[in-house]
Amino acid sequence: MRTRRTIAIAMSVLTLTAVAACGKSGSPNDSADGTSAAPQLPTYQVKTDVKLDNSPTYAAAKKRGRLVIGAKSDQPFLGFEDLSAGSGASARSGFDIEIAKMIAADLGFSPSQIDWKTIVSANRENAISSGQIDYYVGTYTINAGRKAQVSFAGPYYVAGQDLLVLKSNTDITGPDSLKGRAVCTVAGSTSIANIEKYGAKVTKYDAYSQCVDKLLTNEVDALTTDDAILKGYAAKNPDKLKVVGNRFTQEPYGVGLAKDDKVLRDAINDALKAHEDNGDWKKAYDATLGRSGAGAPPVPALDRY
Ligand code: GLU
Repeated sequence: MRTRRTIAIAMSVLTLTAVAACGKSGSPNDSADGTSAAPQLPTYQVKTDVKLDNSPTYAAAKKRGRLVIGAKSDQPFLGFEDLSAGSGASARSGFDIEIAKMIAADLGFSPSQIDWKTIVSANRENAISSGQIDYYVGTYTINAGRKAQVSFAGPYYVAGQDLLVLKSNTDITGPDSLKGRAVCTVAGSTSIANIEKYGAKVTKYDAYSQCVDKLLTNEVDALTTDDAILKGYAAKNPDKLKVVGNRFTQEPYGVGLAKDDKVLRDAINDALKAHEDNGDWKKAYDATLGRSGAGAPPVPALDRY
């Protein structure tokens, strides 16, 4: 309960800074004449003829008539929940949310048939393997350790670990500057082991927005995790925060699902491929993650297994 409340407070701070940032010129969305020219989100045709034999996850979702998807809620342009917008589909936004919706459409579920569940990094494997969610889309790095517990479709994007610091900071230029410095990250993330190697003093929270608060109040020197996440926070706080821009890992993002459900994994990979090929992936990127400043990278090859 306390975790939920702390995340909610951290997110309301973010929303306020986001609203403040929107009214300013010079944010990544503004066109030359000062009007906002945000690219439009694609819509996904919901399939009606879906047949997926021998997927326990799909069979259960079909029976309940709803799909339960795990996501992040405090990562702007990736997985964000606007707490003032009610609990409907429109309250969730970001590239991961679009990836989740394009897959859902190919499985025969419209946005109104999706129940979203916010799951923090440390709880992902458990939420998937205990069947609390049908699949998970939320900056989830594919790696061997996790593959022992869950399975992954994708990758659908490759991020890299980086650092977020105060805009006024000039002495942190990469992980090598972090020996003995206070660095914030999230429990259950790949970011922890990657940064501990550099001798940083690491503090862990449940969600990255909590680290943003600690950085803004000078309680830590840096926040470290994937550049894709950090760019969103910097774009929402352009006067106060900056990404160092020195990636030091590769983080291929996958869709997490039950370990033994190969039929569902294949179907999700097919859905990713179809939406990459028909231009939806690129449109979704431009309308979400692209708004934090970087153009669309090449789509990574799927790792089917
Ligand atoms: N991609 C990394 C991971 O899966 C860091 C981001 C996160 O915690 O979601 O651990």
